[in-house]
Amino acid sequence: MGLEPLRDGHGRLIGDLRVSVTDRCNFRCQYCMPAEGLPWLERAEILTFEEITRLVALLAAMGVGDIRLTGGEPLVRRGFPALVEMLSAIEAVDELSVTTNGFLLERDAQALVRAGVDRFNVSVDSLQRDRFFQLTRRDALPQVLRGLELLASFPEAYPIKVNAVAMRGFTEQEVLPFARFARRSPYEIRFIEFMPLDADRAWTPDRVLTGEEIRAAIDAVYPLEPEPREPHATARIYRFADGRGKIGFINPVSEPFCGDCNRIRLTADGRLRTCLFSLNETDLRAPLRAGAQDRELEQMIRDAVWRKELKHHVGEPGFIQPARSMSAIGG
Ligand code: SAM
Ligand code: SF4
Repeated sequence: MGLEPLRDGHGRLIGDLRVSVTDRCNFRCQYCMPAEGLPWLERAEILTFEEITRLVALLAAMGVGDIRLTGGEPLVRRGFPALVEMLSAIEAVDELSVTTNGFLLERDAQALVRAGVDRFNVSVDSLQRDRFFQLTRRDALPQVLRGLELLASFPEAYPIKVNAVAMRGFTEQEVLPFARFARRSPYEIRFIEFMPLDADRAWTPDRVLTGEEIRAAIDAVYPLEPEPREPHATARIYRFADGRGKIGFINPVSEPFCGDCNRIRLTADGRLRTCLFSLNETDLRAPLRAGAQDRELEQMIRDAVWRKELKHHVGEPGFIQPARSMSAIGG
């Protein structure tokens, strides 16, 4: 049954939900997690597949039809393809996508495509094995690339996006290799600016290698032409002028796109977050487990979303980094 569309207090219609299915991860990326990992949530604290499905169905009925499953590393959640199947059976869900580090894609790509994943984003920060190890603290590049290749054998999974976090002092050396990779592979490469969501709190403004700097460096060697920006898009997409592939830039720090942000997030422990940088969360798990009716949950969601932040304040004086880091939020 269709419900009233979900709207925030600034008039923005919400259409996109990022669901973190676990806070655990098999990598330790420097820009996300500490080397020793984080204290993981207890199993009982994590939403069950049934609880996630109920909340997604309720939100989808309010017009939130784009569902992205993330984490932590979503593929480490046991039985993950079964959750995908449950969610893809919800009629009001338009698109189901997964963000993964790719380590388990060799094992799971086929099951996930069959279960109904429409789109994949795979995170790869370096195309050199030793530098990949340095950044993710896992010697896993060959395995990730094999997983990507397997994924590329499923035409229904296209377009496949590969995301690299751009950090000054590291990513400069990766820019042209990634540009060449974008030109010869079937993947759309996108650089994401480093955001202050790292557990080590090592972020400083000067560690952000901006999308514009990267774009200019690529353009000087392989000329680029902009594609029109789609509404709510996080990435600015460019095509290579000679027609050989596309490359994108997600610039949340240097060019925030909060104005038409249509996204909300659900953490693995059932907290609704209305912004990556929210300092407040709304607990949906407690009412869910206390037997709340759908219309009560709906009202809680509407009240929380009404207060969605107008914009983030990264780089402004007084900015406060949220207590949760990226892997615990669900990027
Ligand atoms: N583990 C999966 C992965 O790495 O793709 C999914 C979760 S991860 C938190 C989601 C995305 O957030 C990844 O593309 C990752 O590179 C990105 N990310 C993590 N920490 C970040 C940070 N501090 N700034 C920008 N992007 C970040
Ligand atoms: Fe894990 Fe993804 Fe965070 Fe890397 S970015 S530590 S793969 S959750």
